[in-house]
Amino acid sequence: MMQVSNYSSVIQRNPTESERLPFLASSRNALFRLGYSTLGRNCLSILIYHSVLDAPDFMRPGVPTAEQFRWEMQLLRDNFNMLPLSQAIRLMREGRLPPRAACVTFDDGYADNLKVATPIMKQLDIPATFFIATGFLDGGRMWNDTVIEGLRHCPDRHLDLSALNLPVYEVNTPADRVNTAYDIISKIKYLDEGLRNEIAAAIGSISKDMSGDLMLTRDQVRELRQSGMEIGGHTVNHPILARLSAARSREEILSGKEDLESIIQERLGLFAYPNGRYGADYSKEHVEYVREAGFDAAVTTNGGVSEKSTNLYELPRFTPWDRTASRFLLRMTLNARHRG
Ligand SMILES: [Zn+2]
Repeated sequence: MMQVSNYSSVIQRNPTESERLPFLASSRNALFRLGYSTLGRNCLSILIYHSVLDAPDFMRPGVPTAEQFRWEMQLLRDNFNMLPLSQAIRLMREGRLPPRAACVTFDDGYADNLKVATPIMKQLDIPATFFIATGFLDGGRMWNDTVIEGLRHCPDRHLDLSALNLPVYEVNTPADRVNTAYDIISKIKYLDEGLRNEIAAAIGSISKDMSGDLMLTRDQVRELRQSGMEIGGHTVNHPILARLSAARSREEILSGKEDLESIIQERLGLFAYPNGRYGADYSKEHVEYVREAGFDAAVTTNGGVSEKSTNLYELPRFTPWDRTASRFLLRMTLNARHRG
């Protein structure tokens, strides 16, 4: 699921900095290359995205728009060697990574990944890997999106959720709606899966106008693959694995793999842990289950970069959200201080 982030700050960035101040852009790039080649030698940066919106959405302030995403992809293309994840992993193992190697990945399986993000990446010749939770394909919706959509359409009022062990909220302004949605999400995220889904459904039932096309269809997953993008496993129901029994964890990991393999008619080699933080979301035994299920490698959301000695089943990922090119590149460089 989408992490609540400070992405809204990106809206104020200055996309024409390099056009107006070419000397700044070239010194910026030189500084970046110097810093990154010291800290980031022989390493792989893997970026994580979820949704990319065709237009700004007040209920999703943490999600990049197409315009922001294009700006970031151009910056990556101009400063990094962008590789498909499976190829980057192979080169890393062989000690043959090009300098400033980076990969783009997407989690969950939002329909906008195909409609909005993929055309931009195809134009810029940037490959990507899409980690898809199969339980939401063809009209499904993740519980956090149900909460967001419920609040979007909630009539102005006191929203008394005390029966669900949640606060009484005042929902009148757009800011109230967004703050309430993310407050509820943070409060129920780590509850028992059944209870959490029940609460989300109750909040979702406030709205009679829930969109059914938020996530990809099976046909669209095939289309993504046919367009040259990579597909990876992300379980069926996107559970917090650390909260499940061993049997259910294995089942989620394996069934998600089998579902996707039957959709794209191809063996699946890559996996992303739902939510992806070591300790909170998965632990050592889940790393074993992913290996047992027959995956070749897996990615987390623990920050940092990968190098030859990194465990292939715990490759770190991050996203360097920032408003200017210099700060975006600085974040990429600082992230390279942390080896996975
Ligand atoms: Zn996810």
